[in-house]
Amino acid sequence: MEINTKDVTEKKYVIKFVWPMVMMALFIVIGVTIGIYCMTFKDVRGPTYIFTFGAFIVGGLGLGPGAHRYFCHRSFKTNRAVKIFLIFCQQLSGIRTVSMWVRVHRTHHKFADTDKDPTSMKYGLLHAAIGWFLIEQTPECKRELERIYMDDITADSDLNFQLKYYPILYVLITIALPTIIPYYFWNETILIGFGLNMIRYGLNIYQQIVGNSFLHWNGRKPYDKTGTSIDNDFYNLITLGEGYHNFHHAFPFDYRANELFGIAHITSLSSLFINLLAFFGLIYDRKFAPRHMIARRVARTGDGSHILSSTYLKESKLWDYGDPDINPDDEKDMKNGKL
Ligand SMILES: [Zn+2]
Ligand SMILES: [Zn+2]
Repeated sequence: MEINTKDVTEKKYVIKFVWPMVMMALFIVIGVTIGIYCMTFKDVRGPTYIFTFGAFIVGGLGLGPGAHRYFCHRSFKTNRAVKIFLIFCQQLSGIRTVSMWVRVHRTHHKFADTDKDPTSMKYGLLHAAIGWFLIEQTPECKRELERIYMDDITADSDLNFQLKYYPILYVLITIALPTIIPYYFWNETILIGFGLNMIRYGLNIYQQIVGNSFLHWNGRKPYDKTGTSIDNDFYNLITLGEGYHNFHHAFPFDYRANELFGIAHITSLSSLFINLLAFFGLIYDRKFAPRHMIARRVARTGDGSHILSSTYLKESKLWDYGDPDINPDDEKDMKNGKL
């Protein structure tokens, strides 16, 4: 008996556009075009530029310290006032709700570079950058998006409020508020206020695009050479501190999202923001990867470019119980039976 395996094994995935998302992308493109027109042909006032830049930073903080490090990875704790402020900042950025953002990002970490990763690089840079947002996910990915752990998010009444009233909050906070402030306080025209806000919105989206695509493209892999995530100094600057993505995939729980070495100190605005709030007691229990844990990881899976790669291998030769030269951190870990 001949079995027709062709019908059974050949599963064709048909690309289906999600039209509301396509319409939204069109709206943003038109808005950014109006913004460029205003900057080129209209007399934009100085305070409007300063305000636009400030709103871009606030939106970026909603994505970095807010949706990403606090809500998604729980890398620090805070009070309700700061939490609501972070939801406001994320709403200003205009990139979905915190709940939807977390669902996609947790699934991305869990299944990075596979068919189940919503922003997978398997289908190319364009898909990871913007395509994934405009088309329906594969059935495998959809299933994992449904299954991913979200109990902490669904139990949060403030996040549920954002989810329930998202269309209204989008119009009010993402679009109307940053348009009206320049008009109300320094008599900017509504057209210029709208256009410049749409440029700000576009730049916040660009931060997101960088995180999903370019930070999984070409670059250094000091911590884990097995995946596509990379570290990049320039992208760290424009994403306010999310650019050391190879580090982040190795240690997602680390509130710094990098080691804050050298140039990263001044380009990681999100980490500075978290540290500043921690200084005033508004943020606490910041989780981070200890140096010896990082050293072990770079020696095991890094590409050899990290300064600790060889240090650890040399130091590790001294290991043994009772050895006077043993690394105090390692000794402590052995006693505690931890990693
Ligand atoms: Zn990633
Ligand atoms: Zn992450």
